[in-house]
Amino acid sequence: MTSPLARPRGAFRAAAAAKVADAHAQQALDEATGRLYGHRLAAWGELEDVEALRERARQIRTGTLEHLEAHVDDFARAVEARGGRVHRAASAAEAREAVVEICRRAGARRAAKSKSMATEEIGLNPALEAAGIEVVETDLGEYILQLGGEHPVHIVAPAIEKTAAEVAELFSRVEGRPVSDDLAELTATARRRLREVFLTADVGITGANFGVAETGSICLVSNEGNARLVSSLPRVHVAVMGMERVVPTLDEVAVLLQLLARSATGQKLTSYTTLVTGPRREGEKDGPEELHVVIVDNGRTDILAGPHRVMLSCIRCGACINACPVYRKAGGAAYGPVLSGPMGAVYGPLLAGLDRAADLPHASSLCGACTAACPVKIPLHDLLLDLRRDQAAAGVAPLRERLAFALWSLAWSRPATYRLSTRLARLGQPLAGRVGPGRAWARERALPRFARRRFRDR
Ligand code: SF4
Repeated sequence: MTSPLARPRGAFRAAAAAKVADAHAQQALDEATGRLYGHRLAAWGELEDVEALRERARQIRTGTLEHLEAHVDDFARAVEARGGRVHRAASAAEAREAVVEICRRAGARRAAKSKSMATEEIGLNPALEAAGIEVVETDLGEYILQLGGEHPVHIVAPAIEKTAAEVAELFSRVEGRPVSDDLAELTATARRRLREVFLTADVGITGANFGVAETGSICLVSNEGNARLVSSLPRVHVAVMGMERVVPTLDEVAVLLQLLARSATGQKLTSYTTLVTGPRREGEKDGPEELHVVIVDNGRTDILAGPHRVMLSCIRCGACINACPVYRKAGGAAYGPVLSGPMGAVYGPLLAGLDRAADLPHASSLCGACTAACPVKIPLHDLLLDLRRDQAAAGVAPLRERLAFALWSLAWSRPATYRLSTRLARLGQPLAGRVGPGRAWARERALPRFARRRFRDR
């Protein structure tokens, strides 16, 4: 199975062009990202010293990465000491198999899921469906997208581009009756349908915002309460998490929580912040009988050993996405079905391979807005530039492009050919904007005319 993070060459440009031409999507993107961006700024502004907090968060995340393996081992031991079971998965395939096997052994026919980018990354839903297990997304945005057969386009607000009218149409289809686009009716419809899912699911599948090494707890943050229902009502709870989500102590989680919701939605905390520590204990009234934690590597160990390891300190707040002028025009689908925006443009090539998501490092104006928005101070635009360098070194660019740059470099590194090329440039003026990369540029803009006399001639 190809990694869902892979993106064929040219796919970004095609999807972005379609999105730019869609006036309704442009308005939805502008409004939603603008709102989230404004909320983050206001929430950061309320903090006494946001820069000190960001620095503390950066230190926690990068410090954890220094000894990540040891922290993951501590976390696994703590989970098992409290009655949970840990499954280490080296690849997406191993992670999928582990979850399918847990569901099989539980005799599951239906699984309820809360939002988890890790499960999107490993392509879990198709694997469960192939094993005869019905999977229902219970995050409202994800539920809407599942009904439409679509993928999330934003890690925090997955259905950011959908209007109430579009949701009403989807709900009318599954209800078999007309559902209006009145928000109260839409909410009531979703609540009624999802409540039945919570009560009948055999297995609940969540992600993990953080795994706490000292207690073996899974920290889940959500605004809809669905993660709490998914992790407590079904008989079996499976949490799927990337290995980098481990944080050594609860105190450190508390620091990160101060920034996570503020950076994501502008809230001080999300409506529900849940710590799941082990399965139900004797005498407890609720909670699952079994808790399984699937810790996914899937390329993270390689990233950890390489020069871009700082990317693993991401806490998935989405602030860089809302700040990115490219995302705000291109929309999330352009980046592929899992991650989007600047964080997706870095993660995609790192996890799928430089040549398998080759367009993504170029989906940036390098303005640095992403870096300025990141609560854990990941230098996103530097990483994007690094990846472009890595691609050049690895010969990932198409042959034509490599040849063109090689010739240019050859010509401009010798005075005689440099002079000749600038002299000939004026002769080529009529062709400028008609051939080569200038054509795409000139489609939207007028190319400036070359001066009659070169600077060096004057
Ligand atoms: S890269 Fe930074 S801003 Fe972007 S999602 Fe991750 S933590 Fe948030």
